[in-house]
Amino acid sequence: MTNHEIKIAFDEYDSLKELPTADHDLCLEATEALKNSHSPYSKFRVGAALRLQSGKIIYGSNQENVAYPSGLCAERVALFYWGANHPDDPVVAMAVTAQTDEFMLTKPVTSCGSCLQVLAEVEKKQNKPIKILLFVEGGPIWVIKGIENQLPFLFFEERLITSS
Ligand SMILES: [Zn+2]
Repeated sequence: MTNHEIKIAFDEYDSLKELPTADHDLCLEATEALKNSHSPYSKFRVGAALRLQSGKIIYGSNQENVAYPSGLCAERVALFYWGANHPDDPVVAMAVTAQTDEFMLTKPVTSCGSCLQVLAEVEKKQNKPIKILLFVEGGPIWVIKGIENQLPFLFFEERLITSS
């Protein structure tokens, strides 16, 4: 038996003001993005903003549906829009924030496994890691570099070796 340990790392900032200007501004864009959240069922509004290498900003927000599984998270709305419209302009950073009247949010809301798997695909496609900024109003900001610091056991096909 061999025991393995995997370390992941992220930075925590106390306030948006401590961030570099571009990241600070991207967080404000994520707050703008959540205004278009369609979340009448969960009442949990999520906004995502992508900064592309060209400086262009892409917005995403969670879009729910009365048929629950038909809805989609803010992160995937933004990432799929990027893939469909700007695939040659690499994603440099993604900021994600959330608001709800139902709960107190004191820590950043992290992405679901499906969004992380999609994020992994985007990093692979563009061959560049993406800086992730997670925050809620009045809480700390978590800055995470690259998918390996969020989903170390992500599915990737290089692990699949043909049996023949
Ligand atoms: Zn998700």
